[in-house]
Amino acid sequence: MLHPLNKTITITGGGLTGLSLAIALRRHEIPVVLHEAGSYPRHRVCGEFISGISQETLATLGITETLSDAQFHRSVTWFSGNHPLRETLLPDAALAISRYRLDDRLQQLARASGVDLRTGSRLRISPDQPGHVWTAGRRPVKGKWIGLKAHIRHHGAAAHLEMHSGPRGYLGITSVEDGWSNICGLFRIDPSIAARHEELLPAYLLKNGNTELAHRIAAAEWREGSFTAVAGFSLGLQAPTPGVLSLGDSHAIIPPFTGNGMTMALQSAETALPHLLSYASNRDPWNTACDRIEKDLHTRFRKRLTSAKIIHPLLFQPVLRQLVRIAPLNPILSLVR
Ligand SMILES: Cc1cc2nc3c(=O)[nH]c(=O)nc-3n(C[C@H](O)[C@H](O)[C@H](O)COP(=O)(O)OP(=O)(O)OC[C@H]3O[C@@H](n4cnc5c(N)ncnc54)[C@H](O)[C@@H]3O)c2cc1C
Repeated sequence: MLHPLNKTITITGGGLTGLSLAIALRRHEIPVVLHEAGSYPRHRVCGEFISGISQETLATLGITETLSDAQFHRSVTWFSGNHPLRETLLPDAALAISRYRLDDRLQQLARASGVDLRTGSRLRISPDQPGHVWTAGRRPVKGKWIGLKAHIRHHGAAAHLEMHSGPRGYLGITSVEDGWSNICGLFRIDPSIAARHEELLPAYLLKNGNTELAHRIAAAEWREGSFTAVAGFSLGLQAPTPGVLSLGDSHAIIPPFTGNGMTMALQSAETALPHLLSYASNRDPWNTACDRIEKDLHTRFRKRLTSAKIIHPLLFQPVLRQLVRIAPLNPILSLVR
């Protein structure tokens, strides 16, 4: 039953941020319309390991069940070029699940919760619309990065996480579900690479000095339709559009080596929730709710965004990468989650 006086929240972008926010709002009987440009299920560029998420956040959003069969990974093996550097234990287990599965579960839960979810609906960003939330992901810019991902099956698949680095980027391997491993890399765009589609992944790995991995991947079984690529985005705080409330990647993108982007997406929905409830139930005007959300996002994410911005370029320096052998990694990782 809708409370007759509650205002509607309109969300643009049905990724993790938009879907989880919509589900959480419906738990408080707020009417929600969610516009998603694409459809479900679909593969997305993402390493698909979730680091630093708490049970409290999942419970507040009402999405605990969607991750109930996610794999747990406790250890990471770090490589530089073809050389293993070290295996370390993570401070807490990372969760692994494909976005193909997770986003589809969330959209089903959203619909079952009463969200008016409109797929194939692409909205334009437009300022000063009370009750409108922008969760449409990365802001398009002329960026220097390319993100590539696929699911593969291969011999010697690790049952945990691997991180392969080199001078031009890095690639993580994460076993997700049904015997598939996610391979997902972030590389500096190299215009001299002429490869296309699936061939881009081994081509970027070869250029990055990860030659053994490039051959392993080229010889693996690839999951049909799982290859995706994205370019034209920047890391860190995204250029804000005045008068628009932006959450998730639309607000800020933490470098992917942290495995914290999905956590930030869910936490930004959690952070916004009480203030959107105040607005929707007529306790606060829209501008007050937005000001409070922006202040809380800043407080919650500032330290990890700053730390990740400092650490990220070091991953591309051969000498500094060797520090992975001896550096106390857990205190460093705790700065970015
Ligand atoms: C290479 C790479 C690897 C990554 N690896 C990891 C990882 O291992 N772990 C991790 O936690 N994070 C990772 N991330 C980050 C993570 O994927 C994002 O932080 C997360 O997906 C953000 O969720 P979101 O809902 O904000 O945005 P998105 O998931 O991008 O969702 C945005 C949605 O909005 C829709 N949309 C866009 N424009 C419009 C419009 N105009 N109208 C309507 N709908 C629109 C899109 O179709 C999309 O569904 C990685 C990112 C990259 C680039």
